[in-house]
This record gives sequence, structure tokens and C-alpha cells, in this order.
Amino acid sequence: MAFFQDMVSIFKKRDLPFIERVQEAEGVYTFRFEKPQEVAWKAGQHGLFTITHQKIKDHTRPFTIASAPVENVVQMTMKISNHPSEFKKAMLSLQKGDTIKLAGPVGSFYLQTDSPVVLVAGGIGITPFRSILKQIEIEAKGAHPPIHLMYLDSNKSYLFQDELDQLACKTAVQVTYLHERNHLNKELDKLISSSTDSQFFVAGPKDMVGAVTAYLQKQQVPKRNIKKDVLIGY
Ligand SMILES: Cc1cc2nc3c(=O)[nH]c(=O)nc-3n(C[C@H](O)[C@H](O)[C@H](O)COP(=O)(O)OP(=O)(O)OC[C@H]3O[C@@H](n4cnc5c(N)ncnc54)[C@H](O)[C@@H]3O)c2cc1C
Repeated sequence: MAFFQDMVSIFKKRDLPFIERVQEAEGVYTFRFEKPQEVAWKAGQHGLFTITHQKIKDHTRPFTIASAPVENVVQMTMKISNHPSEFKKAMLSLQKGDTIKLAGPVGSFYLQTDSPVVLVAGGIGITPFRSILKQIEIEAKGAHPPIHLMYLDSNKSYLFQDELDQLACKTAVQVTYLHERNHLNKELDKLISSSTDSQFFVAGPKDMVGAVTAYLQKQQVPKRNIKKDVLIGY
């Protein structure tokens, strides 16, 4: 069913007017766009974004929609190095009034459970969790399953840290910041032993998602309790 919904959604292309660009950290930028009324997504999903204000060769990339549906704005947050691709150069050149095309949103990386939830983010893999947690903060008003976010970044450059800390104060969501893989594994061990029916959501670069998934399975977490979002391209 989700597959057919994605197939229908991917053919619907909408123009999003650019609002603003904000630098989140060194080499990380957020881009905000107006949300056309008919665009709807589930917190955690991604879209296919196409550059249209310039002619470039490789004009389409998948990006998580990092804003929550209730925020009424479409936000992408991306890493941009000192030698950006043509796509990212074009992103940096967006001016008010320009538009970008969105196809989708698609994907099954969203909460659909009353079981305890463990979210594991690696670096830029925090983007789907920002959307999911923001939606919970604004909408759920305390009525949500137990949620624990484990945020791993080897450089301790935690995106959205202020927002996440505020969210942890206002809701029952727990946030743990980590910078070493073995610390993450120890924290995961505690959560695995405290609940047998936890659902694990893992998002980040391919290697990180692969390693965390392999660790969870080694610790006897069933495959059906692990959802993955690989941010291909890193
Ligand atoms: C579901 C999903 C969600 C994503 N969300 C985010 C996000 O929120 N923030 C973010 O910064 N990035 C996200 N990405 C990654 C993003 O789509 C880009 O791939 C990444 O930002 C690199 O783009 P670039 O233009 O800098 O790199 P490029 O210079 O175009 O590519 C870097 C390298 O990755 C390879 N590559 C790039 N895209 C793909 C692909 N789709 N399949 C296979 N190989 C590829 C290229 O061949 C090259 O070797 C997401 C990816 C996916 C699949």
C-alpha cells in the first residue's frame, strides 16, 4: 500500500517558493520554502528536489523534509563542503522569488507504533528525527510512546541542539549526545535490556546505519523492529 502511495506521490511535482537560507553550523545549511497547501508529508519522509532556477546537469537529489508538517514550511538541512557539487552551488545561489521542484514526499521512515521508540542519528541523519520530534512536541502534548534519541557525532557538532534540549524539557523525550561508537553500543545495550518490544529507527550515512543495524541484530533485536534511513551520498 505504502509503495503505491509513493508511486502516485512521486509523479506529483510542485513548485516551492524559496524563503530563506540559515547557516546551522560550519558547512551545514538549512533552506526554507513556502509549503503549497496541497503538499502533505508524514514526519520523517523525504522528497526528490529538483533545481529549476539554473540549468545544471545533475539537477535532482533526495532530501529529508526536516520540518514537521505542523510547522507549515518545507525545510531541507544539508551538508555543503568547500567544494560543493553543482546542485549545492545552485542551492546556495537561491534568491527570494526563485522556486525549487518537489516530487513526493515518499518513504516509510515515520513513527507508526505505540511501543517504546529508540531513534539513532548519525551526523546529518538527525534531519528525519528533527521532523518527527518537532511534530510530537507541537501535536502530541505529552501523549506519545516513550522515545529516546541517541545522537552520535564524532565531531560533537550536534545540529539543532538548542531545539532538542528544549524539546527534552517540554516532553518526555530523552536525548543523549554521543561521540563514540562504543558508547552508543553501551547505551543501546541498556535500552535493549529494558524493553523487548522497542522499535529502533536508524538514520545517517551508509556505514553508520550498517554498523548500528548489525550491532542491534547481534544483540538479538529482530529485523522487523529496525527501520533504516540511509542518506546515500555520504
Ligand atoms: C532518503 C535520503 C534522504 C537524504 N536526506 C539528506 C538530508 O537531509 N541532508 C543531506 O545533507 N543529505 C541528505 N541525503 C543525501 C543527498 O541526497 C546527497 O546525496 C548528498 O547531500 C550529497 O550530495 P552532493 O550534491 O554533495 O554530492 P555529489 O557530489 O552529487 O555526490 C557525492 C557522492 O555520492 C554519490 N551519490 C550521490 N547521490 C547518490 C545516490 N542517490 N545514489 C548513489 N550514489 C550517490 C555520488 O556518486 C558521489 O560519489 C539524503 C539521501 C537520501 C537517499
